[in-house]
Amino acid sequence: MADTGICVVWSLQTEAADHEEQPRFLCLFPDQDLEEALWDAIEEQNLQAALQAEFPITRPLWYGLWIDSPLSQRQSAVLYMLLSDVARQSILYRRELRPFLAALRQASKGQGPLNVRLSAPGHTDFGISTKFAHCPRCKAEAPFPRWQGYPSDPIICPVCKYEYSPAATYASREDKMDSGEGEKPKRWQQGIIFFCLLIGWIIIRDLCINQSLDAIARSRRRRRRAKREKRRG
Ligand SMILES: [Zn+2]
Repeated sequence: MADTGICVVWSLQTEAADHEEQPRFLCLFPDQDLEEALWDAIEEQNLQAALQAEFPITRPLWYGLWIDSPLSQRQSAVLYMLLSDVARQSILYRRELRPFLAALRQASKGQGPLNVRLSAPGHTDFGISTKFAHCPRCKAEAPFPRWQGYPSDPIICPVCKYEYSPAATYASREDKMDSGEGEKPKRWQQGIIFFCLLIGWIIIRDLCINQSLDAIARSRRRRRRAKREKRRG
């Protein structure tokens, strides 16, 4: 299999709902492109002071947005402004952010609480599920090579400055879902193979579309930045 995605797991519990809300996922990879989109949005919306007042500022910034949970009304409002601007920058971000933005809007009006949690970095393969050593506060992966053991001595997280023991956050266990335990009837296996092929095709198609969307987003960001610099000077 592969590395498990880094996702924000979130749920909004409104008073109107008579049942526990199912957790939902916001899966944006915290790469250089997302980081630039966030800082661009901060500058464009003039959010520096509000962000500093409401959130721990980490580098990369993405990790600091999910340390506090549930989000306060004010945090939800600031995050709504920030991520709305990020969503405007690319169709890829817009599609992924849409349901979470709707939840942020509700939470900013006091219709919450909105629980958020960033998943820890992991990998699943040959029936073994592994969680790499990570900061328990911001969930950033520990700065050590994978699969070579981790030190027990405390380190300072390079992302959020929290002190923790890398070895204490590493975990590896059998994953029955991935181990092939319990033979399925042949028809089921064929169905699963067909489903995997279909998902693979959708992923490849989306990757091709997303690459062109990312290129468009980057060029839009460059134009926005040039416009801002022109305005200033
Ligand atoms: Zn950290």
